[in-house]
Amino acid sequence: MITQKLIYERPFIKKMNAGLMNKFGTRTEFQALKYIDGVSVKSLLAEYGSPVFVLSEKQIRRNYQNAVRSFKTRYPKVQFAWSYKTNYINAVCNVFHQEGSWAEVVSGFEYRKALGNGVPGNKIIFNGPDKHPEDILLAIKNDSLLHIDHFDELYSLIELCDTQDKKPRVAIRVNMDTGVYPIWDRFGFNYENGQAWNAITKIIGSGKLKLVGLHCHIGTYMLATSAYAIAASKLCELATNCKNQLHTPIQYLDLGGGFPSTNTLRGAYLPGVDTVPSVDDFAEAITSTILAHGFKQDELPLLILESGRVLIDDAGYLLGTVLANKRLSDGRRATIMDFGVNILFTAFWYEHKISPAQDFTHHSEDMVLYGPLCMNIDVVRESVNLPLLNRGDNVVVHKVGAYNMTQWMQFISMRPNVVMIDEKGNPHLIRKAETLGYLEMQEETPTHLKSINL
Ligand SMILES: *Cc1c(COP(=O)(O)O)cnc(C)c1O
Repeated sequence: MITQKLIYERPFIKKMNAGLMNKFGTRTEFQALKYIDGVSVKSLLAEYGSPVFVLSEKQIRRNYQNAVRSFKTRYPKVQFAWSYKTNYINAVCNVFHQEGSWAEVVSGFEYRKALGNGVPGNKIIFNGPDKHPEDILLAIKNDSLLHIDHFDELYSLIELCDTQDKKPRVAIRVNMDTGVYPIWDRFGFNYENGQAWNAITKIIGSGKLKLVGLHCHIGTYMLATSAYAIAASKLCELATNCKNQLHTPIQYLDLGGGFPSTNTLRGAYLPGVDTVPSVDDFAEAITSTILAHGFKQDELPLLILESGRVLIDDAGYLLGTVLANKRLSDGRRATIMDFGVNILFTAFWYEHKISPAQDFTHHSEDMVLYGPLCMNIDVVRESVNLPLLNRGDNVVVHKVGAYNMTQWMQFISMRPNVVMIDEKGNPHLIRKAETLGYLEMQEETPTHLKSINL
């Protein structure tokens, strides 16, 4: 009989919890994750390499439909606009657009990406403090919604209008005290000190712009639904004043994004899945405030939401491979992965849940998970209890769909493949891994530096 030699594992002392449940139930982190939407993790790694991002189209659509339902069952006029910067791979944007979402962009190239995806100009919301004159002219031509961020933008817009025969449709971004600090007052016009009202009177007084909406985006990963109730009531107040004092009815209120995904923030005492309010909770806070404000039924403003994170985070996975294990000088176990903060930017904010992608022994240990970069800050998890992983083992990082595929950096290693699994369980490559050729495409080497002689 041939028996396989068992792998040696170093002995260690461990506190026993004797299988008792804690208040969150039994532990589940230690389940191997072998399939995503029915597709085997190992086959994805074999086909697309390691590391690789995987997105579930089914989960994106489910998230979107659930969020829309939360609002539409409570309020008659609702429109979502996909926040491009959260994930602007075209395949991802188009899932949202197929579902009925408009586009929300914060730069000229994002604006053109939305146009390229076929979003009609009048369904693109253009936010942000950095709109170039040529972008603004294009947006005016396309009848897009320009959300003004500061007075200098307002004045240059009024000036640009002299050369245009069209009246641009605009809104202002309003910042305000919502009881959550610090206030994001670097964007938009302040409510409390009268700046927002001042901007509104200047817009209407100019006669050159059509004020159609009021916008705010009060923060990101917001945990207080009350902050949205306060924001909604302040925007309603402004809208009423616009109508009564300036005879300008407001067509829409845009409450921005900021709803949290169920990721766990670094250092949080309780896991995100147990502490984060649901989209229903936010919808309740916002819609009941607007409905109670006293608009006439036929004058209720359209409610726009620009949610990003909450709609895609849990539809994204990062699959990777263990490069090595080592002991740090203080005795801690360190495991080095083939992905780091270069492609997992959100490791700076979240304690990402990580699952082994294969069966494992029952030994577990607290360990540090490092990325592959030659850089001290490249830490994926400061301290995580996981089964012992061996060189070549695979892991799956959960809830990485938001911001990583836009904030990733090309540093030391290239950006990897991104795959989307469609609703029938077929994987599609939606963004190719970068190559040296891609990287050097933008470089120009002066003639005198073209040759070297070592
Ligand atoms: C980033 C951003 C969003 C999306 O924010 P999330 O926190 O991901 O929901 C929406 N609106 C604006 C103006 C933004 O800058």
